[in-house]
Amino acid sequence: MMNPPNPTLTTPASGSNQPVAYPCASAQSPAQAETHPVFNVSSELGDINLFDSDPALQEAVQREGAGWAIDDLKQFGALTGSRDYLYLGYLANKYKPELDTHDRFGHRVDVVHYHPAYHELMRSAFANQLHSLPWVNPVAGAHVARAAKFLIQAQVEAGHICPTTMTFACIPSIRSTPKLVALWQDKILSPQYDPRNLPASQKNGLTVGMGMTEKQGGSDVRANTTVAVPVHQRGPGEGYEITGHKWFLSAPMCDLFLVLAKTDAGVSCFLVPRWRPDGSKNSLQVIRLKNKMGNVSNASSEVEFRGAFGWLVGEESRGVATIIEMVSLTRFDCMTGSTAIMRMGLIQAIHHCQQRAVFGKKLIAQPLMQNLLADLALEYEGALALTMRMARALDQKQLDTDNQHENLLARIATAIGKYWICKRTPNHSYEAMEVIGGSGVMEDSPMPRLYREAVINTIWEGSGNVQCLDVLRAMTKTPATVEAYFKEVSLALGKHALFDQAVERLQAEFQNRENLEFRARNVVDQLAVVLQAALLLQHAPDYVATAFCLSRLGQQGMHNYGSLPVEVDATAIIQRTYQV
Ligand SMILES: Cc1cc2nc3c(=O)[nH]c(=O)nc-3n(C[C@H](O)[C@H](O)[C@H](O)COP(=O)(O)OP(=O)(O)OC[C@H]3O[C@@H](n4cnc5c(N)ncnc54)[C@H](O)[C@@H]3O)c2cc1C
Repeated sequence: MMNPPNPTLTTPASGSNQPVAYPCASAQSPAQAETHPVFNVSSELGDINLFDSDPALQEAVQREGAGWAIDDLKQFGALTGSRDYLYLGYLANKYKPELDTHDRFGHRVDVVHYHPAYHELMRSAFANQLHSLPWVNPVAGAHVARAAKFLIQAQVEAGHICPTTMTFACIPSIRSTPKLVALWQDKILSPQYDPRNLPASQKNGLTVGMGMTEKQGGSDVRANTTVAVPVHQRGPGEGYEITGHKWFLSAPMCDLFLVLAKTDAGVSCFLVPRWRPDGSKNSLQVIRLKNKMGNVSNASSEVEFRGAFGWLVGEESRGVATIIEMVSLTRFDCMTGSTAIMRMGLIQAIHHCQQRAVFGKKLIAQPLMQNLLADLALEYEGALALTMRMARALDQKQLDTDNQHENLLARIATAIGKYWICKRTPNHSYEAMEVIGGSGVMEDSPMPRLYREAVINTIWEGSGNVQCLDVLRAMTKTPATVEAYFKEVSLALGKHALFDQAVERLQAEFQNRENLEFRARNVVDQLAVVLQAALLLQHAPDYVATAFCLSRLGQQGMHNYGSLPVEVDATAIIQRTYQV
């Protein structure tokens, strides 16, 4: 069974930086004597507004078309930045989910128990439409508004974000099959999170997971051995029987799962419910939970399908094409999630430096620390600008399917962003942790959690190399994606000499297609930084864009955090990034 919540754990009281006044030592017995005053220490970050304190996010929301959501985002920022809400993230990870395969009478149950804090985060995520907003309110800016909320919520806790994302991302795949839309879409989009272990038909809201990875193949799903045969008829929306396994299946208490399995026609996509339509338990068995280094609050499992029932989604043999609709959105959420990890690390670091003095001066006033903090802030600015621009591309892709530029940009730049932002985050988190020093390493600080999430975000939903190869695939199969990319970055030409030179270098890279696969990381690194620079040059304050160009384009390949050149206005960058 699950560990009982520790009754002694409560929301920590706010810290104080005042030296503690001592009672007279002689009045105490030696055992009671105070040994030292506690002062010059930081305090728990909390009771801030995660939206209001982030000017770059406010600007991006307005710029990319979701100005109408600002009041809602302000309220959401206050809720999520409250001390109690942030503490939910800690609790949800301290008490790990636990699996019961059987009940005490011996029946197979496959039930995972979570800490109430996890359920509370899920309830709030669904009530705030993080799984549904652009589908239920398909207006300009809906993806942008959702991305902003998602970015705020993911700063608090990443584990519950996984099923939230999967539920959001499944909709385009399911929409390939009208029968399944009629059966499930309304309940998937319901704002109610319903964690009860009941057949989907009896619940008020549903969550959706995804099963692709098998032992012998994750990136290469063509290696899948799980098979499916029709129960009666073949075809989209018809029932099939599935036999095999998945080596990773996160959030196994989801109500439905999009699963890849092979029919005799090829790899196909199925919607597998946890309960059969007749109300009996589906033969989807959880073998064990993964013992993961991070994303702990989210149970990830190994499962077996023992003749499990599932509906075919899309056409037989078109499984990868069907599920890729879902995967491209989960990849977008990985960008957003890693940007959120950067943000929380950054503000934790600044908050600490505002309070801690060393060698007679606050850390925030030490030149070398200013260099490092400003550099971490610049990385966040670049990640945020790219993420929110892609959110707008998703809006336009959904609302204006004829808009070729946005379609093509979304295709290539989501892979670029998933690769680059996720790749830049672990070192960012580690540097933010180092800013806090020894206390940053402690498990009751959020920093180790951020660091672990950062690493996982790079690996799932297509690891680094896979993203780079996906960029090459987009370039080769749809050369117009490259044109769309250069059209987008050309908007910033003439704004900074280093930028213009970087665009030229990049164009030269594309003239030479030899050994492109071997060079793919190098090329995608440049694609990412140039695109981020283009966005910042157009939209960020001059001191941000200039610093980004000087540090990322002037010293290509040599950049370590904290090595900004002296021309940079670090104070202005730090002041802008976190306003409380
Ligand atoms: C916490 C967690 C939860 C997960 N949850 C789910 C889930 O719910 N559902 C699900 O389906 N999967 C899930 N996964 C699995 C995840 O998506 C895979 O681990 C990932 O796709 C990589 O597959 P793999 O582990 O088989 O590694 P491999 O495919 O073996 O890849 C290993 C390495 O090789 C690289 N590589 C692959 N192909 C090439 C190539 N052609 N050239 C150069 N390099 C290459 C990859 O980038 C990677 O770095 C989860 C993983 C984690 C860590």
